[in-house]
Amino acid sequence: MIEQTQSNNFQEIRDAIRSLCAEFPDEYFRKVDEARGYPEEFVDALTKAGWLAALIPAEYGGSGLGLTEASVIMEEINRSGGNSGACHGQMYNMGTLLRHGSDAQKQKYLPKIASGEWRLQSMGVTEPTTGTDTTKIKTTAVKKKDGGYVINGQKVWISRIQHSDWMILLARTTPLADVTRKSEGMSIFMVDLREAEKSGMTVRPILNMVNHETNELFFENLEIPEENLIGEEGKGFKYILDGLNAERTLIAAECIGDGYWFIDRVTNYVKDRTVFGRPIGQNQGVQFPIADAFMEIEAANLMRWKACELFDRHEPMGAQANMAKYLAAKASWEAANACLQFHGGFGFACEYDIERKFRETRLYQVAPISTNLIYSYVAEHILGLPRSF
Ligand SMILES: Cc1cc2nc3c(=O)[nH]c(=O)nc-3n(C[C@H](O)[C@H](O)[C@H](O)COP(=O)(O)OP(=O)(O)OC[C@H]3O[C@@H](n4cnc5c(N)ncnc54)[C@H](O)[C@@H]3O)c2cc1C
Repeated sequence: MIEQTQSNNFQEIRDAIRSLCAEFPDEYFRKVDEARGYPEEFVDALTKAGWLAALIPAEYGGSGLGLTEASVIMEEINRSGGNSGACHGQMYNMGTLLRHGSDAQKQKYLPKIASGEWRLQSMGVTEPTTGTDTTKIKTTAVKKKDGGYVINGQKVWISRIQHSDWMILLARTTPLADVTRKSEGMSIFMVDLREAEKSGMTVRPILNMVNHETNELFFENLEIPEENLIGEEGKGFKYILDGLNAERTLIAAECIGDGYWFIDRVTNYVKDRTVFGRPIGQNQGVQFPIADAFMEIEAANLMRWKACELFDRHEPMGAQANMAKYLAAKASWEAANACLQFHGGFGFACEYDIERKFRETRLYQVAPISTNLIYSYVAEHILGLPRSF
């Protein structure tokens, strides 16, 4: 295995995750993928070992680690051949609750999440008719006279609903026409998923390319108690941005894990595979794309550490989170291409796991934010160019 060239390598966490992941080898994830299933046993093992409570402070039963350490956990899962996509939601959703939840909410949710009794794996933001234009969301939360809110609307691509007890939901509490800034007037709520399914929320799973458990949600007069509002009404978009930045950074780390996995696989393969009387890895035409992808991964990793460091210091880090996600997703995709290409026909055989990881890492060019939208962010917010939309 190629070792990290960077100094802050958190070896103890890496060793512990690698040893847990060794109990869930390639065949395990291959079978889950073939069955379009969910890696239940794997997520249970991670929960029992406390890894999914990494960000929860010790006073609530977690280990009180930062996003930096959480990102190492996610990276190592992907580097071991698994897919953190099954459980990464808990890490970044947690951040929203930790930073913006009241003491009472933290007391209510965090100990049960830390013990594994509850899972907080879902976040409902995306809608079918508005896409990336989040401030135009049409799902509404209307305050009732006697307290509480009534939710109506629709969401799409909302992941892990069947494997979570709670979801953080973004909805409009003040119509867009009545706010001065379009980012105002949205709020976030904790939704009890099992209760919601009985009283106003319909779930329709979406069969998809990456076996990512994800769904359409329909809300029809779903009632939510007032105490489930996180933070102040109308400020939800600001709060959820913290969660989205944490998500982008964790996904950057996952892509880096994928990238190293592809590089490990392809370098080992091209050293051995002999064609025309010599290892194919002796040809520069084979070496150069692998070396290129490796350098891209290493460089993306620097931005990932920077994003983690700023997040953990509670400093603005939107730019770094977006850039880390962009660079890492691009690097892992280049590594995936080289790995598939130099395995020749064997790259397409499911038993090599490359085609599975190839599909899984491809997702991150589109979700949780597409590459084009990161270009726009950098152009507008960092380079000061006129807003394009
Ligand atoms: C497997 C999966 C799991 C997901 N899980 C969740 C989840 O748990 N919760 C959740 O809320 N969402 C989730 N999503 C949604 C995901 O975040 C969105 O798919 C993503 O943000 C892109 O939004 P969209 O699909 O609406 O694409 P659109 O916004 O319709 O964009 C389509 C394409 O057009 C391009 N585009 C759009 N506008 C512009 C522009 N102005 N300039 C240039 N190009 C532009 C984009 O780059 C993109 O490639 C998931 C998606 C997938 C596929």
